[in-house]
Amino acid sequence: MLIRNGEVAGRRADLRIGEGRIVEIAPTLAPRASEPVFDAEGGALLRGLHDHHLHLLALAARLDSIDCGPPRVETRAELEAAIARATPDDTGWLRGADYFESVAGDLDRDALDALCPDRPLRIQHRSGALWMLNSAALSRIGLDGSDPDPTPTGVDRDGTGRPTGRLFRVDEWLRARLPDRGTPDLGRVGRLLAACGVTGVTDATPSNDARTRATLRGARREGALPQRIRLMGGLELASLGDDAGLTIGEHKRLLDEPALPGLDGLVAAIRSAHDQGRAIALHAVTRLELHFALAALDEAGAQAGDRIEHASVAPPETIETTRRLGLTIVTQPGFVFERGDAYRAHVDRDDQPHLYRLRSWVEADVPLAGGTDAPFGDPDPWQAMRAAVERRTRTGESLGASEALSPEAALALFAPPDATGRPAASAVRDALASGRAPAPRVGEPADLCLLDASWSRVREDLARAHVAATFLAGERIA
Ligand SMILES: [Zn+2]
Repeated sequence: MLIRNGEVAGRRADLRIGEGRIVEIAPTLAPRASEPVFDAEGGALLRGLHDHHLHLLALAARLDSIDCGPPRVETRAELEAAIARATPDDTGWLRGADYFESVAGDLDRDALDALCPDRPLRIQHRSGALWMLNSAALSRIGLDGSDPDPTPTGVDRDGTGRPTGRLFRVDEWLRARLPDRGTPDLGRVGRLLAACGVTGVTDATPSNDARTRATLRGARREGALPQRIRLMGGLELASLGDDAGLTIGEHKRLLDEPALPGLDGLVAAIRSAHDQGRAIALHAVTRLELHFALAALDEAGAQAGDRIEHASVAPPETIETTRRLGLTIVTQPGFVFERGDAYRAHVDRDDQPHLYRLRSWVEADVPLAGGTDAPFGDPDPWQAMRAAVERRTRTGESLGASEALSPEAALALFAPPDATGRPAASAVRDALASGRAPAPRVGEPADLCLLDASWSRVREDLARAHVAATFLAGERIA
């Protein structure tokens, strides 16, 4: 196929695709006999975007859930209306997502029973760390107060031993007690991502296992989820090997203050991953979690490709350690926009200057990549790029303005991985230094995001609406 009349690296260009790769880029290329021609109408041709941190199956479930948090639901009355409007799934359950306390305070079973007395309802907190269940739901999973089985410590109980309906970080335990909803609709996820220009993702779910891989592989083979996938997860993934377009990535570990693992255990996990030839990815959101992650990596010995996910609060001394250990930071600038107002209200004043740094990492020569953390963040990478440039909250307040990136560097946060499958170490730094957006090159897979205007125009607003077409290995997917 020949894409004519596009813009590559700021210049008018034609781009030829053969066997899924870019084979030629030149100011003008003559179409060959019977070669399909696509008119780019002067729009910029970018490398397809890669979301370096999201959760595919959770996103699929999220798209089928009740919105329970800002900005769509702001008050208790709006939450009640949203629940009343919702249709239960095939198993009779209602599932809510994205809850935040600003809507109706801490929710327990009694508060939820007042909102929804009859049907089993479970609502996930926006952090992903907490599920809140009403009494009907608790009874369905055998937690009605008479259950003699020992339950994990994350199952909260009041002074009398009665479960409060608040379940912290017990997703796998909970999932085993829920009715099987079958495979979620990954087609919706694939279409949504393709419409954003996304041609690849890294799934950062710690519990990803052989079953997850089989589900995602099936969705890729059917074409429902066309994007290339890098799958993080448990140690057992190592034995499964790579599949076309579905590769095994880092071993992912959550660090969860206040229930941090022992340092020795974490050091052993890092070494086990390294012994498998895999890098480690450590989730670190708080100041303490980041210090703990760095201490463990220092002790275990960091390797190329080891990553810190989020580094949401990064005090200055952690930047130097991160650089020294050669770690990559995978950040979520979209949260500056989506959650910035709550951060300004609730995050410790001392920690606020350290939130979701961008420029400081680049200036310290720390490899940086971006993700949306969907469904915990909005899956639109353009919104995240805009937040990286503007550093403004939803209400327009400035948050960490000195951490802002240029539009080109913001785009580079979502650059495709390098040949090793890892985030390209210098993509953001190069884009920031040169002022040039990463451009497609001959020899690369023809994973392309075509915009409806020149880059000089799109860089002004970085809106998803500019995505005119998306190609994966030369096939149009949006
Ligand atoms: Zn995540």
